[in-house]
Amino acid sequence: MKCPFCGNTNIARIMYGLPAFSDNLVQELKEGKKVLGGCCISGIDPVYHCNECNNKFGSPAHVIDSNGKHLNIIGNISSIEFNIGGYFYGNDCVFFDVNEFDIFVTVNHTGRPLESDSDEAGHLERRVTFEEWDKLTDKLFNKLFIHEWNENYDDLSVCDGEQWEITITLTCGDTLKISGSSAYPALWSEFKRIIRPYFKEAGLKL
Ligand SMILES: [Zn+2]
Repeated sequence: MKCPFCGNTNIARIMYGLPAFSDNLVQELKEGKKVLGGCCISGIDPVYHCNECNNKFGSPAHVIDSNGKHLNIIGNISSIEFNIGGYFYGNDCVFFDVNEFDIFVTVNHTGRPLESDSDEAGHLERRVTFEEWDKLTDKLFNKLFIHEWNENYDDLSVCDGEQWEITITLTCGDTLKISGSSAYPALWSEFKRIIRPYFKEAGLKL
């Protein structure tokens, strides 16, 4: 496991409630394997504490809807869109469209023509199995904790760099947007590893 804020693996599990102290627990607290989280438990608390950057993470993926209720994100996704590109290259887009009975993935390249003889290069459209979808969302939300990433990653010193954006739309209409310009989250390479197969299928590189 890596911290989504700094990428470090020096991580403690947060214990909530009043713990039963034992020699074992004291040792784990000393070694930074566990930290105490206090007695207030909300049900959406972060599970991990990074010993490097001191950020907490690992809360269950949720949003608070208009009625003030916690809405689980994974079960309520209507689409996930990922765009990446630059001025000289054009734009690549992966779009997962979740309907009641089907999930489809579409990949498209726009902008500068690709160096390929095939008309199909840069394009993919197919059904996503539920098993594939479960694995994908499990990785994004339970391993990379993408719902806890910053909203913006920008390096303003770079001109004509690479722009990217992840948009997660929920069935309640809420959206989660994460974007960047020539700057990236700590778990960027892990994220690319999850999305890369879809680029590959469409004959694109990521
Ligand atoms: Zn960290």
